[in-house]
Amino acid sequence: TKFADLNLSPKVLKAVEETGYETPTPIQAGAIPPALEGRDVLGIAQTGTGKTASFTLPMITKLARGRARARMPRSLVLAPTRELAMQVAENFDAYAKHVKLSKALLIGGVSFKEQETLLDKGVDVLIATPGRLLDHFERGKLLLSGVEIMVVDEADRMLDMGFIPDIERIFQITQTSRKQTLFFSATMAPEIERITRTFLNDPAKIEV
Ligand code: AMP
Repeated sequence: TKFADLNLSPKVLKAVEETGYETPTPIQAGAIPPALEGRDVLGIAQTGTGKTASFTLPMITKLARGRARARMPRSLVLAPTRELAMQVAENFDAYAKHVKLSKALLIGGVSFKEQETLLDKGVDVLIATPGRLLDHFERGKLLLSGVEIMVVDEADRMLDMGFIPDIERIFQITQTSRKQTLFFSATMAPEIERITRTFLNDPAKIEV
């Protein structure tokens, strides 16, 4: 498989070429086509397999049309730690450099005020740790009723860190607007399996 065969938008393809990647990794070749078709994806993959691009590239392609309204992000990426959230944000910046999409990072250690200013401007892609996201939601400064695409990255680490109740709550809050979920975990612990059965809709399952 080549990147050019995956139906990504020309602008995303150009950014991928500029990173120097030559061929899609197995998780990318497996997850990108169903994600672009609008299907839910269950990716069982470790870090280092290229899974970040497997969800960011189709997201950017799909979100390129349309514009976010104040406080209503159009998509959400949940990561277990600040470091991981920052890595996703860096990847997003590289792959989205030829499109006009806004992003915000909601992680601990940054002032609420600064983050609220960003949210007020309208955000296409919100990258967050679950606790911080819910803090903003509870302050009423963030609406989650416009989230169409949600990504859960490293669900097994979310489980280790006690974030599963937060994740379930975010699944419930976004239930009405959410059209698509891309869910990644390195392992399928029973608790993770239960979440995927409850909230994913006939997912394309890619195991690498
Ligand atoms: P990830 O699993 O998303 O953390 O990615 C692991 C590393 O692989 C990162 O440094 C990426 O920049 C790199 N990478 C992702 N996709 C590809 C690809 N198709 N070809 C070469 N390197 C890649």
